[in-house]
Amino acid sequence: MAEGEAPPEASRHPRHVPRKRFGQHFLHDPYVLQRIVSAIDPRAGEHVVEIGPGEGALTRPLLERLPRLTVVEIDRDLAARLQQEFPAERLEVHLADALEFDFGALPAPLRLVGNLPYNVSTPLLFHLAKYADRVRDMHFMLQREVVDRMAAEASTPEYGRLSVMLQRRFRIHSLFRVAPGAFRPPPKVESAVVRLEPLPPEQIAPVDEAVFARVVMRAFAARRKTLRNGLAGLIDEAGLRAAGIDPGLRPENITPGEYIKIAMSIGSKSAPAADLDR
Ligand code: SAM
Repeated sequence: MAEGEAPPEASRHPRHVPRKRFGQHFLHDPYVLQRIVSAIDPRAGEHVVEIGPGEGALTRPLLERLPRLTVVEIDRDLAARLQQEFPAERLEVHLADALEFDFGALPAPLRLVGNLPYNVSTPLLFHLAKYADRVRDMHFMLQREVVDRMAAEASTPEYGRLSVMLQRRFRIHSLFRVAPGAFRPPPKVESAVVRLEPLPPEQIAPVDEAVFARVVMRAFAARRKTLRNGLAGLIDEAGLRAAGIDPGLRPENITPGEYIKIAMSIGSKSAPAADLDR
């Protein structure tokens, strides 16, 4: 290193010991990083928000393409390192729990990206789905099995509550898989990168969200039961038939669109409120 030159990032800080409780597995494979950035294809002027920047493996190549980036990181040591490395005009750091963070307070449209902590991926996806109308798209690295469930079609073993709840609002594309060796420390599972694109507003049925969520939760809580039995108390057999659904089917056999029909049918008949609130 020439005299007066800044030391490389790795030698400026002592090595960070990955924290299991924050699901820390840091990407180090340049090929994987380049594939993720190409999939995102960030452009100046876009509001890109990275969730869980960690040691900045993805943050740095994103900032090579963008004049500004926003990040949300829960680990105060890692957030502080990033604040030291980049000026505030280039990197806006929120030290916060993404599960509680109000993404609605950031200027839309948002492009959300991140190599997400796998230990909270499902609740995080449900939280982020609430902001679908403020989001242009999302690109996330997740456990492969979670991506398979997100993108699954009806009547497949992976299809479940996560598939229905997300597919109601997003088009989901499983992009590519990533082997454990791309991370430090390597996770025990294979990973995959997924893109979520919100459906256009005219394709989103005006269904009561709480009723829809309750129907889907109830149906998949009893995966082996028929809809007639699993949804008893919410909608009866005649109601299912009126919505065009065969009451003898099981929860994995009907599409997100058919769950919407059930929820609309319940919503239009003043649902049993006590059951919906539970
Ligand atoms: N993006 C980095 C990379 O690819 O090397 C780190 C990825 S690591 C799998 C997940 C990151 O999310 C860690 O930096 C962790 O501290 C952070 N994190 C974990 N839980 C979080 C939460 N609830 N809110 C915000 N960040 C979180």
